[in-house]
Amino acid sequence: MLELLNPASGELIQRVETDTQASVAQKFSDAKSAQPAWAARPLTERTAALVKLRDLLSERSESLAATLSLEMGKPISQALGEVRATGDRIDFFVEHVAAALAAETLAESASMVERITREPLGVIANISAWNYPYFVGANVFVPALLTGNAVLYKPSEFATLTGLAIAELLWEAGVPREVFQPVVGAGEVGSLLLDEAVDAVFFTGSYATGKKIAEKVAPRLIHLQLELGGKDPVYVADDVDVVAAAQNLADGPFYNSGQSCCAVERLYVHEAVFDAFVEAFVARVKTFNIGDPRHAETYIGPLARKDQMSVLELQIADALQKGASLLCGGKTIGGKGNFFQPSVLVGVDHSMEIMREESFGPVIGIQCVEDDAEAVALMQDTPYGLTAGVYTKERARAERILESISVGTAYWNCCDRVSPRLPWSGRGHSGVGLTLSVEGIRAFTRPKAWHLRSS
Ligand code: NAD
Repeated sequence: MLELLNPASGELIQRVETDTQASVAQKFSDAKSAQPAWAARPLTERTAALVKLRDLLSERSESLAATLSLEMGKPISQALGEVRATGDRIDFFVEHVAAALAAETLAESASMVERITREPLGVIANISAWNYPYFVGANVFVPALLTGNAVLYKPSEFATLTGLAIAELLWEAGVPREVFQPVVGAGEVGSLLLDEAVDAVFFTGSYATGKKIAEKVAPRLIHLQLELGGKDPVYVADDVDVVAAAQNLADGPFYNSGQSCCAVERLYVHEAVFDAFVEAFVARVKTFNIGDPRHAETYIGPLARKDQMSVLELQIADALQKGASLLCGGKTIGGKGNFFQPSVLVGVDHSMEIMREESFGPVIGIQCVEDDAEAVALMQDTPYGLTAGVYTKERARAERILESISVGTAYWNCCDRVSPRLPWSGRGHSGVGLTLSVEGIRAFTRPKAWHLRSS
């Protein structure tokens, strides 16, 4: 039994039955039997079901957002934004799936034809995170279903009700129950799912869990994709409009209460603008409304996981002990929920955990640098490689810096942004494989190479 607690109050929301080894095995067997018929349906039928999902998300966005906000503490305006923007991702996948699946003839002569066709992977284990359950879920299950796979979807234990709601919506939209099945529970249940003979694993979560999953499935040599955490840096150069950059960037570490895989986690600011930037940045952070995630004006809600509060306290204590200074925040907010003050530290360096390990909360360290070269060296000094950004007036300067940094996504004068048209991928400890873009549709297929000789 899983106890779902409201992170804003600590109160029990409800208890939910979890899956067992036997129920997971049954779900796998049902999915395996149902998948070929789903793949054999005309693409137009699979597409119609996903278009219907988009319409249902739009019609019910308010109640779905309320559920998301209740169980993981996302401020309601941000929860609504996520549910509604998931429709844009579905639209992208629906628009491009036919071209992504189309057979290609690469060479054709009188005696030999060379072609590629694409086949679904089969039954996919989709083990997901709680921080953007609609976005990270849909990045996987929408293209997976469109391309003819069956999906066993394990939502995070911190977004269970949302996971169950997604299943109901997909069934109502016309996806057969056996083709999309939720698997409910925490990490042990995720591990049970990996005991089944699934054809592929698509995981979104932390590096620590991703590594365990990679080790577990390695002997099976199946398709494995890992979308993991980050320690994403941004460099603010000496030519920026300081106030505009600070205002724009303040969202990066704090949106979704800092619980984004691509949250800005490290800031490097050129010494020529450091003091002015920090002053404008902190002034902006001090305007954030912290409180009840149900209120439309709330910008910072509770952390989804209580345990993360002590991770943040330890990172801050470590930084202060090594010489950093706190300009605002730094503590939990007393009371029942998992609230943590938005916190800004300066005087930080790479001996401190706060500049090295994912914080995943409303906390940011700002380090002063003397030039672009020092910024590049520090941005590179990480095992992660999800995103990096540069704020400068000069596009060429930004591109030069970003080309030298090993990340899947590069931002000029923006941050914490994802587009369905562009591939989303991490390097190093941020993962392997990709979602989104046309390549993120093909990721759910395997090519078959045809050598066809007429005589
Ligand atoms: P997590 O690793 O704790 O859990 C992720 C999922 O794995 C959950 O469903 C969990 O129940 C399951 N799990 C845990 N142990 C397992 C095991 N041994 N076997 C199988 N499944 C297991 O991560 P989280 O707290 O849910 O999410 C936060 C992390 O996810 C952060 O590091 C964040 O950066 C990352 N993230 C990355 C992306 C991306 O696109 N790169 C997107 C969202 C979140």
